[in-house]
Amino acid sequence: MTSMLTPEQRQYAKEFRAFADEAVAPHADAWHRAQRTPPQAVRALADQGLLGLPVPTAYGGGGCDAVTLGLLAGELGRACSSLRSLLTVHTMVAHAVNRWGPRPLKETWLPRLARGESIGALAVSEPETGSDAAAVTTRITRDGDGNWRIDGHKKWITYGETADVFLVVGRSAEGPTALLVERDTPGLRTELIEDMIGIRASMTANVYFENVRVPAAHLLARPGLGVSHVSGAALDLGRYTVGWGCVGILDACLDAAADYAGRRVQFGSPIKEHQLVRRMISTMYADAQAARLLCLEAGRLRDAGDPGALAAASTAKYFAATAAGRAAADAVQIHGANGCGPDYPVQRYLGDSRVMEVIEGSTQLHQVGLAEYAFQERAPRRQR
Ligand SMILES: Cc1cc2nc3c(=O)[nH]c(=O)nc-3n(C[C@H](O)[C@H](O)[C@H](O)COP(=O)(O)OP(=O)(O)OC[C@H]3O[C@@H](n4cnc5c(N)ncnc54)[C@H](O)[C@@H]3O)c2cc1C
Repeated sequence: MTSMLTPEQRQYAKEFRAFADEAVAPHADAWHRAQRTPPQAVRALADQGLLGLPVPTAYGGGGCDAVTLGLLAGELGRACSSLRSLLTVHTMVAHAVNRWGPRPLKETWLPRLARGESIGALAVSEPETGSDAAAVTTRITRDGDGNWRIDGHKKWITYGETADVFLVVGRSAEGPTALLVERDTPGLRTELIEDMIGIRASMTANVYFENVRVPAAHLLARPGLGVSHVSGAALDLGRYTVGWGCVGILDACLDAAADYAGRRVQFGSPIKEHQLVRRMISTMYADAQAARLLCLEAGRLRDAGDPGALAAASTAKYFAATAAGRAAADAVQIHGANGCGPDYPVQRYLGDSRVMEVIEGSTQLHQVGLAEYAFQERAPRRQR
């Protein structure tokens, strides 16, 4: 499939793979067990310029295209889904600031985000608000000085425990409203959520806001557009990179399963000679190819500014996440008891793949949306 990439994208892909193999993959199991990403790992990503890769060059970023960003998410996803999720949320925040932030906010924050000096987190979900993001209840009011005040509780915030700046979507009098909030703002408190099923090193947190005061200039888009425009645009990018992250999980499952099946001998032959094992490997192989093609197409459409990019990203994420789930379950199966124990990474892939079907639009939400695309595209006009 490298034939579908430009020479520059091919070169990037090589560099991303080398970085993931050397600086990430050897440590991913240890980070998973510790439920922490060490600051040096984040620094290494930043030092390579990888956290700012899609930020426009005018703000100190790499200005890369969507396909290149996808290739990076794929390689990180193959090595460590937690670090891939850092890339996802960080680039979602940068994208939203670039798209919807007023110029002074962009000039202050985009260079910091591009250098990875500040890490961004997206705070939309709440204990009672998940898929229906427009129902957020965190209160946003105007204080006497024309600034904003935030009171509420955000939950499941990826890298919330360590992020420097939060893109918060709450509810003002006008409806869902998005604000950029610095970690050090008085009244903001985080609390790590441990023992997650997957992406366990991603330091997911509760974020509490008690009388948090935010300058008026930290508003993104108009009040009322926080979900439809701000987090909506961020989520579109997020689901694209999560789709690629799932391609990475598929690749990792395939590598691990093919290697193990070639070495494990039962009934006098390597288990790869048993047809039922081959069937699992062949499904994984075809799924990985198909998921990669869907993600490439979503990236190509995104780069072309094609309106079909939205549906393509949803299709790619839906297919890649469900395929990663199948692949991880089969990779564990092929490893037998070793797949259930702590010595092989397939156990990690299984937990990570479960999370992929919940975040950036659950599998069911994508199914509902894709059916709608299908009716619009395929139903005869008279039935609409
Ligand atoms: C590891 C992890 C990291 C996360 N990181 C972040 C983050 O950084 N920032 C953030 O804001 N949030 C984050 N989230 C939260 C995530 O966005 C939500 O989990 C997601 O939006 C789904 O919401 P929910 O979990 O409340 O499930 P619910 O919305 O309560 O859904 C529960 C079930 O009902 C189904 N369902 C809901 N509505 C429908 C429908 N209309 N039709 C059919 N089925 C439906 C869902 O598919 C699901 O199976 C994270 C979650 C996890 C697990």
